[in-house]
Amino acid sequence: MYECQESDTCSRCTHSQHLKGCVDCHFTFYCAGCQNCFMSSNLKNQQYVFYNERLTKQEYEKRVGSLNLGNHATLKKLQADYEVMLRKTLRKYSTSARIVNCTGDVLWDSKNVRRGFHLTACEDCAYCVDNDSLKDCYDAYEAAFNCERQYECHACNRTSYAVACSISYDNHHIYYCDMCHGSSDLWGCIGLRDKRHFILNQQYSPEKYDRLTAQIISEMSSRPFTDNRGRKYAYGDFFPVEHSPFAHNETVAEEYFPLTKGETLARSYQWKDPEEKGYQITIAAQDLPDRIQDVSDDILGQVIGCAHQTRINADSTRIDADRKIDENPRIDQSDSALECGHQCTTAFRLIPAELQFYRRLNLPLPRLCPNCRHSERIAQRNPLKLWHRRCQCDPSVPPLGKGRSGGVYQNTIEHSHGKEPCPNEFETSYAPDPRCAEGSGEASRPEIVYCESCYNAEVA
Ligand SMILES: [Zn+2]
Ligand SMILES: [Zn+2]
Ligand SMILES: [Zn+2]
Ligand SMILES: [Zn+2]
Repeated sequence: MYECQESDTCSRCTHSQHLKGCVDCHFTFYCAGCQNCFMSSNLKNQQYVFYNERLTKQEYEKRVGSLNLGNHATLKKLQADYEVMLRKTLRKYSTSARIVNCTGDVLWDSKNVRRGFHLTACEDCAYCVDNDSLKDCYDAYEAAFNCERQYECHACNRTSYAVACSISYDNHHIYYCDMCHGSSDLWGCIGLRDKRHFILNQQYSPEKYDRLTAQIISEMSSRPFTDNRGRKYAYGDFFPVEHSPFAHNETVAEEYFPLTKGETLARSYQWKDPEEKGYQITIAAQDLPDRIQDVSDDILGQVIGCAHQTRINADSTRIDADRKIDENPRIDQSDSALECGHQCTTAFRLIPAELQFYRRLNLPLPRLCPNCRHSERIAQRNPLKLWHRRCQCDPSVPPLGKGRSGGVYQNTIEHSHGKEPCPNEFETSYAPDPRCAEGSGEASRPEIVYCESCYNAEVA
């Protein structure tokens, strides 16, 4: 797989999103059980579909074969085609299946979930993100395997009855703990294994443990901790962010809620400036060979300048690989890293297995550093936010009219609501057009968002 996301049980697919059980699919979106499909979307159990047109095996192979997929110039053109296709692709209000009474996005086999994102097999949960098999949890992030009754916890697998804990597995009844495993009845502990009745990493009798913890809870509530901005933290709140060992821009929070350095510091979160590294760029991205066939093993010794490193491009300081190394310009990393907002590392190298992979899959060399590539993929995802909207299905509007979908999509069959606009409303992670009143549903966003029944009528 290469440049794919939110996909599973697939093989040899590239540049795609929301695939399930697909093989040899490229530039595809929302496909399941497909093989050999190219630049197509909303397909189920299909083969040899090219630009959403069903072809014979021979014709498909001929057309894909003529594309020169190993060329960077071809890739740029296909990426533009993919953008156009995405704009016309019909979307279901939520990427979810087999859910009952849930709001959120990317939900599977779940029940009674409120504002959940990326959840599988969860029940009676609220405000949880990236979890599997949770029950009765609230504000849980990245936990899995039969978790129950967690509140304000992060990555506490196989753990029940936990408050404000982080990365602790196989526990029960733990409070304000970090990296404790196989334990129970812990308060404010770090790095313990197979322990019971510990407070601040010290053991107590069960009776004393109960007495002291009752006293701690009562004092945390009557005398809450106040952070350097005056925010109060009582029992139940997670650790104050000023105590985080990580800066905001080092964490996954930055991916979902990006902040500038100024915004970060204004909230008294920590910020990490890029480290000064001693490397010198030996080849600029735009000087890489266009075709993967023309790349020699020498590339493994090169330090490649990231294409988002706009200072290189803007200054036209085109770097000649033959030039003596000490003549190469030094890049001011702290300035450039701010330019694309991706924490650009300004340069990158290839490793042998990676080069072999690009050759085997006939992929041109990447022009961006790994951080920039990652940020560009994340930007394609929907945010962890919901908007109340109306289904955009409106058969009364002719193509290219000014209806709810702006005429971009026209239904292929009649729906249960007949010639009237669909009355269904939902919570969706597709933002309405900012020019419209929030929640009015009268959006002309690029995506056409339908309710489940209208979507299924068109796609299933
Ligand atoms: Zn970069
Ligand atoms: Zn970038
Ligand atoms: Zn509808
Ligand atoms: Zn409809």
